[in-house]
Amino acid sequence: MNITQDKVVELDYKLTVNGEIVDQSEPGEPLVYLHGHSNIIEGLEKKLEGKVAGDTFQVTVQPEEGYGLRDEESIEDLSRDDFEDDIEVGETYYAQAEDGSVLPFTVMNVDGDTVQVDFNHPMAGMVLDFDVTVLAVRDATPEELEHGHAHADGDHNHE
Ligand code: ZN
Repeated sequence: MNITQDKVVELDYKLTVNGEIVDQSEPGEPLVYLHGHSNIIEGLEKKLEGKVAGDTFQVTVQPEEGYGLRDEESIEDLSRDDFEDDIEVGETYYAQAEDGSVLPFTVMNVDGDTVQVDFNHPMAGMVLDFDVTVLAVRDATPEELEHGHAHADGDHNHE
């Protein structure tokens, strides 16, 4: 079975950035995703199209099809008063947008009452090298299609 729109795919992957492994699936715990629903980054999803179980490949994903380019406009100054807790430079915090979505950001600098934060994704601007092995391909269930994501076996605990 080939990977096409609405297939559920299991894969092992290793993500390397600048020669360093930054993320990889654990043995026996593959990534499971629903193909064609932007569940994974665009450049990787494109390359998976048409593959079958057993295929192994490498793909280099440019930032435009990865986590996006860095946007200097996404660096903002917040007030110390906006934070309830201690602030640690380099830590990730979460802001709630007006539409209720949650936006992660990284604290870059604290200067008196001013906190400089970066709303860019930590991997924005980076070239991503993936090593991928396709383990399994199956049809999605109606429920998965309705939700727009894959359900791992017995692991459907989300809102
Ligand atoms: Zn669901």
